[in-house]
Amino acid sequence: MKKCSFCGRPEKKVSLLIVGKDGNICSSCAKDASIIVKEDEVSKGIATARALELAKPKELKSFLDQYVIGQNDAKKVISVAVYNHYKRIKSAVSFDNDGVEIEKSNIVLVGRTGTGKTLIAKTIAKELQVPFAIVDATVMTQAGYVGEDVESLLSRLLQAADYDIKATEKGIIFIDELDKIARKMDNPSITRDVSGEGVQQGLLKLLEGSVVSVPPEGGRKHPEQKLVKIDTKNILFICGGAFDGIEKIISKRLNTQVVGFNSIKDGERIDRENMLQYISPQDLKSYGLIPEIVGRIPALSYLEPLDKDALKRILIEPKNAIIKQYIKLLKMDGIKLEFTDEVLDYIVDKALEFKVGARGLRSICEAIMIDVMYDMDSDEDNLMKITLEYAKERVDILHSKKLKAA
Ligand code: ADP
Repeated sequence: MKKCSFCGRPEKKVSLLIVGKDGNICSSCAKDASIIVKEDEVSKGIATARALELAKPKELKSFLDQYVIGQNDAKKVISVAVYNHYKRIKSAVSFDNDGVEIEKSNIVLVGRTGTGKTLIAKTIAKELQVPFAIVDATVMTQAGYVGEDVESLLSRLLQAADYDIKATEKGIIFIDELDKIARKMDNPSITRDVSGEGVQQGLLKLLEGSVVSVPPEGGRKHPEQKLVKIDTKNILFICGGAFDGIEKIISKRLNTQVVGFNSIKDGERIDRENMLQYISPQDLKSYGLIPEIVGRIPALSYLEPLDKDALKRILIEPKNAIIKQYIKLLKMDGIKLEFTDEVLDYIVDKALEFKVGARGLRSICEAIMIDVMYDMDSDEDNLMKITLEYAKERVDILHSKKLKAA
């Protein structure tokens, strides 16, 4: 009787037995073997998990579409940049020695807070199944000053990768608030710009790609810890920032550009409401990023402010939309939860009123839902309909609590 040479199960007990010259393998063991091979390739740096199959930019974008509403330009730019980045890694390990070296395409996303910059970066990392870390540029200071060294970015990624150095070296770091380390040009009295240019210089080293000694636990709290060497050549950096006031710089540039030498076609009207769409690397330099940094972040895109329509879609459409989450939570208790359309509009209006963007949607929903979830009794009526009246009452209570606290 034929049997699998790995698990020993007889042919009858497996769905498929592949018969070899000196041994056989069943479909289940073949599947396991395939995973082992893939893991081995990843650990040897031949492949990066999902990126091994290199999802095409269009596939990446449609994955992002499931989680991120709107922001088409940013999603497109990031999909292409990420695709090229992992293609670059692949070409470096292949035997294509034609002398053409593909440069790294780090990315910068400019847009108001709460418009989806972090979400885009996080979602892309999830799809690629690579380690991902979010760090705030404001916590970094130049070496020797109070605060964290630039290297601490890498400690975070190393931790996210469970201290797997090979995986860390192909991860993604999201640097938030990049604008906060811009050079403060209108303040000549600062002789030593602790939080500005010095940090940018430190960051530049990482963006360019270099081997850096990293304290695995981060910070300087454990001076005795052994440093780990990490090569940043293949780490993708996605930067985000609101760059408050950059619109003025963009508009100044557009106004002084010679007609006919314009990126905007002659005769086309400038959309003054959304100047960010015309952003160019030059504007980042004028804002106070050193030219070398700008040069190392070639993929640039912007995020649009979220209007009423976008906020409502965010509430209900993404794969893990807030409303879907509440429905699922209550369904687990056998309760069918429903929100009337006017309640959804009300939530969005409140988020706009509180000027908290998409981030506020959750706290408003939470205020409405907390008692519902506390009081619910699965033996009772199994339909729960949230009415406008109820929602208003709950949000008013939240609001007055906040006012009192202020
Ligand atoms: P940013 O990094 O631009 O400050 P985030 O990406 O952290 O903003 O957004 C905060 C939260 O708001 C996200 O976790 C998400 O729930 C929601 N959100 C923001 N923008 C969008 C969007 N375009 N599509 C879906 N959800 C969004």
